[in-house]
Amino acid sequence: MVNCERIVKIICRRGEFVYTQEEKENFMRKALKEAKKAKAIDEVPIGAVIVKDGEVIARGYNQRETTNRAITHAEILAIDEANRLINNWRLEECALFVTVEPCVMCSGAIVLSRIPYVYYGASDYKGGTAGTLMNLLEEPQFNHQSHVEAGILKEECSEMLSSFFRELRERRKHHK
Ligand SMILES: [Zn+2]
Repeated sequence: MVNCERIVKIICRRGEFVYTQEEKENFMRKALKEAKKAKAIDEVPIGAVIVKDGEVIARGYNQRETTNRAITHAEILAIDEANRLINNWRLEECALFVTVEPCVMCSGAIVLSRIPYVYYGASDYKGGTAGTLMNLLEEPQFNHQSHVEAGILKEECSEMLSSFFRELRERRKHHK
C-alpha cells in the first residue's frame, strides 16, 4: 500500500500525468473566465482557479485597483478561498491554473501552501518568477517545489492582457 502510494506520487510528480491536455485547457478556460471578471471592473485581467479531484474549488481574479491592496492578486485570493473551504493551509492535493505567470508574492504563497502543480498561460517578462526571471516554484533549496507547466492556452491568455492594455491606451488617447 505504502509502495503503491509512493509510485503514484512519483508518477504524479512528473506532472503530465495529472491532467490531460484537454482537461488543462478546460481549467485554464475557467481561469480566463475569472480574468474577464477583472476586465469588467477595469482591473488588469488575470484570473486563477484551484482544482482538487478534478473540480474547481476556488477562484480568484485580480482586484488590486478596486481594493487598493497590493496583495489582492488572483492567485492569493484563490489560495485564501481554497484554504477556507478545505479548512487547511496545506493545498497538497490541488492544482493551480492561472492565466499569467505568478509574481514573487504569489510564487511565495504557492510554495508555502504546498500546491504541487501550477499551470499558467502567458509568461510575464517583467515580473514572472515561475521560470521567466527566476523559478521560485522549482527552487530546490526550498522544502517544497511545485511542478510548473507554462503556455496552457498561451494565445488566449496573452491576448486577454494585450487587448486590455490596447483598449486602455485608446481610452487615454481619447481623454487627452
Ligand atoms: Zn501575484
